[in-house]
Amino acid sequence: MRMKEDHMRNGQLKPGYNIQMGTENQFITGFSIHQNPGDTSCLKDHLEQRKRWLGEHPQVLIADAGYGSEENYDYLKDRNITAYVKYNLFHYEQKKRYQKKKTYRQENFTYLKEKDQYLCPRGKALTYQFTKDVTSYNGYHSTRRVYECLDCSRCPVKSDCTKSKYNRRLYIGVELLEMREQAKKRLNSPEGVKMRSQRPIEVEAVYGRLKHNWGFRRFYLRGVEKVKIEWGLLNIAHNIAKVAVQ
Ligand code: SF4
Repeated sequence: MRMKEDHMRNGQLKPGYNIQMGTENQFITGFSIHQNPGDTSCLKDHLEQRKRWLGEHPQVLIADAGYGSEENYDYLKDRNITAYVKYNLFHYEQKKRYQKKKTYRQENFTYLKEKDQYLCPRGKALTYQFTKDVTSYNGYHSTRRVYECLDCSRCPVKSDCTKSKYNRRLYIGVELLEMREQAKKRLNSPEGVKMRSQRPIEVEAVYGRLKHNWGFRRFYLRGVEKVKIEWGLLNIAHNIAKVAVQ
């Protein structure tokens, strides 16, 4: 995996594990060890493992933008977990500067519902072509509606708009857009703002203690099962230390 600690500054790959951890009042309520680097695909496994240990899912879940995928929103909804989960553009899209700077991003194309078309920033129509199936790392199926501009060949801003030598295309996940809209509404509600402010003082504080205060930067053991035990012991130590100072 590529690590945040990259002393050689060349993005070199190193052997490692992706640890997922959940906390409540800074007590660790569950963890899971993964061998794939992306956080997005770990959420379901993590919550299933947590359920095996604790017997139930959490009622509320707060997570950062790394977890805001269609698959995860769908999973959380199915299990009645109230999700305060950002998506990758959550903060950026609310800034005017972003809208100006990223003129040719999909978000700045206008959807004309009655015609089922998009209009690009230069006023050209992108029409529906076909629907594409997408399968995630975990095997979750979703679809993207593909829209294409009829003729970009003489557009003077084409190089800013698309790297393709053909016409500009948009890949629209209708369900994903709806889920993001719901997520945005919830995240911007008074409760959502309160919940979002909790995240840095919850799980980030716990990681801070383990990694910086206690200096746990590397596993001593090798292999998933041994790493699970090592991390589990550290987590138990953290929870006992939390009880001790209360
Ligand atoms: S490249 Fe095509 S889609 Fe993009 S701005 Fe130009 S005409 Fe519009």
